[in-house]
Amino acid sequence: MIVNIADLNAGMGKETPFAFETTAEELDAAPVEGAFEGNITVKGNAVYTGTCYRVEGVIACRKVFTCDRCLEPCAEEQENAFSEEFRRVSDGMAADDDANVFDGDAMDITGMVRDTLLAAQPLSNICKPDCKGLCPVCGANLNHGDCGCERFVPDPRLAALQQFKKLKD
Ligand SMILES: [Zn+2]
Ligand SMILES: [Zn+2]
Repeated sequence: MIVNIADLNAGMGKETPFAFETTAEELDAAPVEGAFEGNITVKGNAVYTGTCYRVEGVIACRKVFTCDRCLEPCAEEQENAFSEEFRRVSDGMAADDDANVFDGDAMDITGMVRDTLLAAQPLSNICKPDCKGLCPVCGANLNHGDCGCERFVPDPRLAALQQFKKLKD
């Protein structure tokens, strides 16, 4: 994904729009859980601020995963915003270690897009915020209704302890 910023050199505040279509394979971006399905769209603008090139936009993708709580397959449409500074090496702009750098007029945003996308992924993957999960007794998906089991033990470690006590009694 190369943004050609030759036009921007003319002036500060001028914008260069860009739009790319890619895939998880092309990006080499695999989330820890699940997978990005189909096309990943990257749209945005590059603007020269006088000290750097600011690249802003949105990465739209579809993620498929298994719900951590109810284990049902889920799909989620994501829009991940980004706003990053790029610095051209030959401009002599002081670049710190984590700055995005490029040379010439070709600004490659592939690495930034991959990093943004992966960093935006949540640690837990849940089908909906109020997913009720599975019944710890019979394994029924509680989102589909109550199975009628006695489930007064919220903590599985406590449940194991109770089982143990029952055996001893
Ligand atoms: Zn769920
Ligand atoms: Zn049950």
